[in-house]
Parts: sequence; structure tokens; C-alpha cells
Amino acid sequence: MTIHLMNCFTCNARYPSRWRTGTLCLLVESDDGLILVDTGPGLGDYARIPAIIRTFQIATKVPLDREEAALRQVVRLGFKPEDVRHIVLTHMHFDHCGGIPDFPNATIHVHEDEYHAFVGPPRRWTDFAYVRRHIAHDPHFVFYADCGDTWCGIPAIPLPIGIEMWMIPLFGHSRGHCGISINTGSGWLFHVADAAPLGLDEEIPAWLTTLVLGPHTPRLSQFRADHPDIRMTTGHMLLDFFSYRTASELFDGERAA
Ligand SMILES: [Zn+2]
Repeated sequence: MTIHLMNCFTCNARYPSRWRTGTLCLLVESDDGLILVDTGPGLGDYARIPAIIRTFQIATKVPLDREEAALRQVVRLGFKPEDVRHIVLTHMHFDHCGGIPDFPNATIHVHEDEYHAFVGPPRRWTDFAYVRRHIAHDPHFVFYADCGDTWCGIPAIPLPIGIEMWMIPLFGHSRGHCGISINTGSGWLFHVADAAPLGLDEEIPAWLTTLVLGPHTPRLSQFRADHPDIRMTTGHMLLDFFSYRTASELFDGERAA
């Protein structure tokens, strides 16, 4: 099994300027076809830039390179768009799900609370990161809810799609935000998406982390300390991270380090 680590949306902070980040999306080659974990913005977003991206451009430097679209990267890897059978979403903000329309054959897997937050009226400022047209083509969804299962002691929902993969509710950044853990064959990868600033080895004030990312950072830091064998990633990694192109390169590189 190969898991490709793709940057599907570069977003560089104006200050501090060393925060040059890419949005991490995972492309899993499974027996059940390709599985994409988050998509980044889609080609439609490059053709007609949503207002939320325009707003982002005030605070950050966004190159808006359409070659970063998941669809373009999937094709460059030698696959067809229709080979993507499943899209698993951490949440439905524009920078994580805008590529849904580019993969019309895919089933979309998402926590039901996130879907309801997406389609319902905005209740908080982060809800303005939802762009309704991303599901205007009425894709096929499968919704998940808490089921009493656990993964590594954390409440988790098993995903019935070809490989060992769990959806882990980490609500806060958005109302149905989840992490995703994957048995990569080389080790467990726990993608906590936008629930923690782990991709940035920076001290960020706790109040800011809680405001933007939700309440889980202390618990996830403890989890990382307790499980050094599990590789944790976040939704927005420093660009250097993407020198690893696959999960096995990542695990090999870190074991060699
Ligand atoms: Zn987000």
C-alpha cells in the first residue's frame, strides 16, 4: 500500500514569514481504489475564486497555483480522476473539501455533525469557511456518528473502506471536525488535521490555539508523548515536510534520523 503525501494548498503567513505551510492531503492506494483524505481547493476554486480565499489573501500569501489541485496531482501520479473511489474529510472548510467536484465518482465520508454545520446557517465565525457550491453537484455522502468504539483509547469510528482507518471526533475547529488514523503498513499515521498546531514547532499562545483550533491541543500533545511510535500530522504542515512524498518515506526518514 502506498500513501502519497500531497500539498494541495500552499499558504504562507505574512508574519512570522517563516510559517510557510502546505495543506496536507493523503492519497491512499488501496484494494478498494484510491482514497483521498481531504482535497484542498478544487479546479473550480481557481476558475472562480471564493470570497473566503480572497479574505485569506489579506492575512497570508497564497500563490494559488492550480497545479496544487488534488486532481492535477492525481493525474501526474498516473491515475484517472475516476480512480478516486472515496474521499474522507476531516472537515468541510474550503481548503479541505473544495476538490470534491473534481472527483464525481467518489463517495464522500464525513461526520454527520460536520455536514449539518456545512448545510445549516452559520453560527460562528469559522462557519464562513464553508463554500456551499462545493457540494452543489449533489455528491454521494456516507455520514458517521459516534459508535462507542475506540482507537488507542480515544473514541473513534471505524471506516469500512478497504484499509484500517478510523475517524476520530476532535470537534472545535469546526463543529464536526475529525482526525483520521491510518494503519499505513509502516506504522500508524494519526492525521489530526486542524485540531493542533503540531506541524509548526512554534510556541503559539494557548488562547489563540483554542480560539482557532479548538480545545484538543494539550490532550494531543500528551498523546504524542505517550505514543512515540505513532506519527502525527496536521492539516497545515511546514513546506519542508513535503520533501517526504509517501508515508513510507516519512517513517523510514524518521527512523533513520
Ligand atoms: Zn479548517
